[in-house]
Amino acid sequence: MSTELSKSIQYLKSIGPKRAESFSQIGINTIKDLLYYFPSRYLDRTNILKSIDVLKYVINGFDGEITIIGKVVESETIYANKKNIFKVKLKDSTGFFECVWFQGSKYFKDVFNEGQYFAISSKPVLTRYGHLQFVHPDFDRISEIESQEFLNTGKIIPFYRLPKQLRQSNIGDFSLRKIIQSAINSYSNYLEETLPNRLIEKHNFLPINQTIKNLHFPENYEMLNSAKKRIKYEEIFYFECLVAQNKFYKIDKEFTSPFKVKTSLVKDFLSTLSFELTKSQLNVLSEIRKDLESNKPMNRLLQGDVGSGKTIVALISMLFAIDNNSQCAFLVPTEILADQHFKTISRFLNKFNIKIELFISSVSKSNKAKIIDSIKNGETKIVIGTHALLEDNIEFNNLGLIVIDEQHRFGVLQRYKLVSKGNSPNILIMTATPIPRTLSMTIYGDLDVSIIDEMPKNRKPIKTILRGENKLPDIFNFILQKNKDGYQAFIVYPLVEESEKIELKAATTYYEEIKNNFLPSLKIGLIHGKLSWQEKEKVMFDFANKLYDVLVSTTVIEVGIDIPDANIIVINDAERFGLSQLHQLRGRVGRSDKQAYCILVTKNELALKSNNINYNFEYLSSSEIEKHKAAIRLNAMIKYSSGFDLAEIDFKLRGPGNIFGTEQSGIPNFRYINLVEDVEIITKAKEDAFHIINEDKFLLNHSNTIIKNILEKNYSSQKIFSSIA
Ligand code: ADP
Ligand code: MG
Repeated sequence: MSTELSKSIQYLKSIGPKRAESFSQIGINTIKDLLYYFPSRYLDRTNILKSIDVLKYVINGFDGEITIIGKVVESETIYANKKNIFKVKLKDSTGFFECVWFQGSKYFKDVFNEGQYFAISSKPVLTRYGHLQFVHPDFDRISEIESQEFLNTGKIIPFYRLPKQLRQSNIGDFSLRKIIQSAINSYSNYLEETLPNRLIEKHNFLPINQTIKNLHFPENYEMLNSAKKRIKYEEIFYFECLVAQNKFYKIDKEFTSPFKVKTSLVKDFLSTLSFELTKSQLNVLSEIRKDLESNKPMNRLLQGDVGSGKTIVALISMLFAIDNNSQCAFLVPTEILADQHFKTISRFLNKFNIKIELFISSVSKSNKAKIIDSIKNGETKIVIGTHALLEDNIEFNNLGLIVIDEQHRFGVLQRYKLVSKGNSPNILIMTATPIPRTLSMTIYGDLDVSIIDEMPKNRKPIKTILRGENKLPDIFNFILQKNKDGYQAFIVYPLVEESEKIELKAATTYYEEIKNNFLPSLKIGLIHGKLSWQEKEKVMFDFANKLYDVLVSTTVIEVGIDIPDANIIVINDAERFGLSQLHQLRGRVGRSDKQAYCILVTKNELALKSNNINYNFEYLSSSEIEKHKAAIRLNAMIKYSSGFDLAEIDFKLRGPGNIFGTEQSGIPNFRYINLVEDVEIITKAKEDAFHIINEDKFLLNHSNTIIKNILEKNYSSQKIFSSIA
């Protein structure tokens, strides 16, 4: 870095030791640090009025937010309706307007001092006394000069976060702006380019000094957007370089013995299947086969909606491994699911002489020892288990393939532990939580992704409807009628409380009510979180065997067993479930060729009123989204049957971190890039990064020196996440 830029900020005029100390407390030491302290926002409301007299012309029929600048002429606090109401009057050379707050009068009194200038942003109203009024508007204090500049030249004014450390040493909005302005004037030309020229030219970016200048004091909106684009690109570009290096580095380092078709095992198995694989399944299988036939370990993520048939794909992959004398580990998150997979896979393979074991914590001690032995000596070819499989005493003879189901429930470390039990084993990760494209692109940059985007042919789309609680009698009647055609039903209630005791009580109450009052002629079962997994399994098993017509449950059926005749699911208080949970629940039905129904019951008036409205995010403000969240989720369930579509919506509603804890997924906290909105930039940056690293892994070419230096300087300490290690 240029020595000028690494100088302490004390070299700036208005900064002495005391202020320097305050800056240091928020991590700003050098001039460069300060140049990279960007505004958190700008005074950039789209509707800026040049003078107050125009206000009365826009008020009629105007339904948006405007920004207007005025000087405080007077303020008063009025006591009315047991409240202190704060009013402030502002003016410019053409007229007056008023701002009102019904809360916080003390605070606002200190803010709005006579003679000061403010930019006020809100939707104006006309009071019955003919005043133009803003109620609880947003406001920014600006200096008189700024207000002139703003009006005369349309300058965009930056606003910086002002942490208390800065406020304590008397740095306010204007002084910070001034400090940064002087830093830019004297030092921005020392900034060295941080991207190779060819990328700047390719994407028509501003040079680095122009980028930084315009991020602080934009010449106009076009320049501001251009600068933002570049800083975002740069952030994600360097991140993707790391991902790419990580990936290619791993590929370089690791070898496995390539698999070959040795016997007719896979073919024989395929001939026993009672159904045809879908095109999607076949495609994925050929991708997997290619991976397994190469001498690099497979690192593949398989995404597919609930019921799309991932298990059979995993099974066929395992047979390919077994044909090559390898062992397979099948890791699942819960005991009941492990047990289910064990039974399904044993059934599929009953004509073959392949030793399969179930390894979960509830296996008896003596059995455990036997299983551990047979894993160690290589006799067991497939072991299905929970995290119990990760324990140190489990050793494999020749672990060649690891399948991980419902991967997001496993932490990165746990995966690593399993990987270390083999010698660069192949890995297939399966998930039914579809991950939006942007996210998988970013966080699974070093995994190859396969997608099953097609349901087995015999499936009819599930009919999903939304009903108010007043319709419950009709719904029970529907269950009763359909039962005559052999339909079974799930009735789901959300977990009432964290407390298991209360949950148990609630589940039991619902159960008793349905059994005694609503559906007395049907056989009702109950399943809830207080049961052990064996008890849960017994209930599910009895349900599958038609000992019950209806199964009342809390959300424990989320991951459950195939029950072909259960073709109705009623979800109560549906507004309380998350989208992916609703989708998982719905996936419990519709596993046969009969028409299945998902009935969402809610008291949410907004949802019922907007039933079937297609929410368009582009036109919703964040506060509207907040208000409508439940309604948006429920309507999305009606409109979309694909988990991928729902995941996109969920992603928009919740942000990426919440889909599955950010830490676990290894997504860094990006400062500039927005994983939801900046798809285009991410795509370009990733393409560029992967292309460059692919051609020049160690960045030895002269043309890549800038990239190499920046990676070494800025990112060498950064812990690179990896999906596997
Ligand atoms: P998931 O992707 O949710 O794990 P499963 O693998 O459990 O789905 O498959 C759901 C059901 O569909 C299983 O009973 C499975 O045997 C069956 N199945 C899988 N593939 C097909 C297919 N191509 N045609 C018909 N049924 C299939
Ligand atoms: Mg599954």
